[in-house]
Formats: sequence, structure tokens, C-alpha cells
Amino acid sequence: MSGVQELIDAALDAARRAGATYADARYVERQTEGLTVKNGALEAAESDTSAGIGVRLLLDGAWGFSSTSRLERTDVERVTREAAAIARASSVARRAPVVLDAARPVVATYRTPVEEDPFSVPLDDKLRILFEADAAMARARGVTVREGTLHAGRERKIFASTEGARIEQEIIEAGGGIEATAVSESESQQRSYPAAGGQLVTGGFEAVRALDLAGHGEEIAEQSVALLTAAQCPAGSMTLIVESSQMALQVHESCGHPIELDRVLGMEASFAGTSFLTTDKLDQLQYGSPLVNIDADATAPRGLGTFGFDDEGVPAQNVPIVSAGRFVGYLTSRETAPIIGRQSMGSSRAWSWNRIPIIRMTNVNLRPGTAGSLGDLIADTDDGLFISTNKSWSIDDRRLNFQFGTQLGWRVRNGRLAEMVKNPTYTGITPRFWGSCDAICSPEEWRLWGVPNCGKGEPMQTGHVGHGAAPARFRNVQVGVGRW
Ligand SMILES: [Zn+2]
Repeated sequence: MSGVQELIDAALDAARRAGATYADARYVERQTEGLTVKNGALEAAESDTSAGIGVRLLLDGAWGFSSTSRLERTDVERVTREAAAIARASSVARRAPVVLDAARPVVATYRTPVEEDPFSVPLDDKLRILFEADAAMARARGVTVREGTLHAGRERKIFASTEGARIEQEIIEAGGGIEATAVSESESQQRSYPAAGGQLVTGGFEAVRALDLAGHGEEIAEQSVALLTAAQCPAGSMTLIVESSQMALQVHESCGHPIELDRVLGMEASFAGTSFLTTDKLDQLQYGSPLVNIDADATAPRGLGTFGFDDEGVPAQNVPIVSAGRFVGYLTSRETAPIIGRQSMGSSRAWSWNRIPIIRMTNVNLRPGTAGSLGDLIADTDDGLFISTNKSWSIDDRRLNFQFGTQLGWRVRNGRLAEMVKNPTYTGITPRFWGSCDAICSPEEWRLWGVPNCGKGEPMQTGHVGHGAAPARFRNVQVGVGRW
């Protein structure tokens, strides 16, 4: 990569010559692979690579950014001059000059720990996993569509800044999942394993093998068929037990997005609106019950939001967001953190070389509680509803009023799972909902889920983020609202 290092140095030199007070250059090489088997046949085999350099700089107190996939010195210098021209033009419209925090520049390397590189696993092995899972789903009578997917990703990044930072990273991702769909004359019902859209982690192919897709195919396929004739979810105010992958989505929408400080400060409102967690609420608002503890942890092993350094060169950290129910922290960047008197906690990331870093979730995790296993929690519940696996979501602009639908529900009666119910939904208002949390399962039920499709920004940037959660119980929740 000596060639790339020279290009990065050329960009930083060109930025200095153009009068930039700060500049960083980021080389990103991204490789992805996807396999889909549908109804016993290979449906898609995709692979993609992309590489380029993005140059970001501060000039006259404003940001400029430009990028190129042409890895030649003249092109890199040209886009650096473009970035300088953009900064100069932007400075006319800026309200206040951009001020970065005093982060210490780092020289370091980071690589995702992997046992089995997903790109060196033979195609045959991968296809066998998908075909075995397909055969398992096919054992259930009445399933209409069977689908299985595997994903692999690799991102090599080199970041350097005029402050002296120089960081090389290699992030490796692996994951997969299966889905069964049963269709009747009037409806279709789906079941996914291990979560809606599968599971994606940073790590090696060992994570895919550990999913044991084939071992779960028949059960989810049978459930998709059983849902067709199951009773509708009851409507009313009930005790709700939420399975861990749906808890991950609950955390994502009602905590992860509203704690993005750029959104709070009105610098970013695309796709997911603003936030009710305004800065006057920091350290003041009771966000949830005293059982609720949420961290933003970019260091969590295997998290899809795990890395060594963010795209501003700030080391990965684990910071408290909600502590004993109190709202205590934001996701921040070097530009936004000083506005609330803090240092960046390292959550500024770009989707690729041709995007400017913006605040993204890391792994925003609900810490486990002490309620034991899921079985223990159900046994401790006289009357309620247990729901699993996300199907739909909706939340207002400020992240206060939400409604979720899940694939599967069970009535809980006298401490046991009773009959299956279909089309479960629940609705709530964020602090009231989290305030009604009275039990969270213990660490053995805690799982860290990858969310690979978080959209933010204009132009759109897809974020790979993670959420750890254990099943949790909420009292007096409105369920069965609407029909999704
Ligand atoms: Zn999102």
C-alpha cells in the first residue's frame, strides 16, 4: 500500500498549500460478497469491490469534501483543491466556524479478530450450508417460499490527518439467515432465523457456522405455516415480553437515533427526523426505569458497530448513554462534542470513501439484567404476550411515538406459553415505555445483533451498527393496535 500512503501524503500536502487549517485523507477499499438460495436453487451470487480516497478539510472555518476512485496523484490533488473551493464557498453561509475537539492524534493499526476468513471459505462449503437449510425448511408441509442468504464484507482503510494521525484498519464482516414464507388465499406469514434479515457481525465465518441455519429451518418453516391459522393478536393494555432481536430494533429506533448529537443540534434531519433528547435533558431526563442501562460500545466483540478507530481517528470507546434509567450521554463527533463541552466518544463514520463522516451508532447496547433465562421470565409472568422477530416499525420525527409489528407472538398464561398469535403489534411513547420495564433477562440470554441497513444523511449513507439486548418485560403496553 505504499502507493496509497503517497497519495494520502499528496492530499494532505495539497490541503496545506490550499490554506486548510485541518485536513484528513481516507483511503477505503471495500469488498462484499452475497449468496442467496431460494426454493432449492441458487438465486444470486454477487461480489463487488470499490476503492477510492476521500479528502476532508477545514478552511475559513467550514468543511469541504471531495473524493475520487482514480488513484493517481494528479486526481487526488485535484479533488483536494475541489474540497478547498467547497469549504471557501461554504464559509460564506456558515453560522459559526467549525471547532474540533482536542483529540490526540493516533498512529495505530486494527484488525477484526477472525478465526476463519469468510473470503477464503470455499464456495462449496457456503452453498452446502444454504442448501442444507433449504432442505430443512422444505420438510415443513405448506411452505411457499424458502430463502437463505450469506454475506461477507471486508473493508481496508487508511486514515491520516494533518494533526499527525495515521491509522490502518481491516474490518471483516460475516453473517447470514434464513426465511420461510407461507401463503394462503388471504394472507402471507413469514418467519426468519436468527432475526429478520439474518444476523451480521464483525468476525469470521465461524460466526456463520455457529448460527446452525439447518438446525432451525424446519421449526421456522412450521411456524410460518401455523401462523396462517393462528388467532389474531389480542388488543388492549398488557404485559409484554420482547425477544432480544426485537429489543435490538426497539433500542435502535427509540434510543440509538435520538442520541445522535448532530440530529439533536439540527445539523442532520434526513430520514429519521430530529430528536426529543435535547441538550437540556442531558443528565436530567429519566429515560427509563432504574433497570434500564444502555451503553454505546464500539469495543464489543463481534459487534457490527465495532472498530478500532472511527473515521476521525478517535479510538473506539464504551460510554454510558442511559444509567439506571437516567439519560447521560450522546453519540458524538469531534465537531459536535465541544458544543456540549465534551470530547468525541468516537462515533463519526462514513459509509465509503465518497462520503463525509457523520455520527453513526456504534453498538448501542441494553445491558442484561437479573431476571434469569427467558423461561424464567415467562414463568414469572401470569398473563401477557411474548413477541419475537421484527416485521414493521414506525416512529415519529422526534422519536417519541412508536409502533412495532413482529412476526410471531404467544399468549402467556400462568407462567407458560399458551396459544400462538399472529400479526402482533405494540405501541408506546419512548420514556413511558422504557419506564414500564420491570425485568431484563440475565447475561446468558444477551445477544449482540447486527443492523446492516441503517439509513442516514443526504446523499444517503448506509450504516452498519449493532445492538445487544436480552429479552425484557414491560407492563401496561398497548398491543394489537392497527393491522400491519
Ligand atoms: Zn437507523
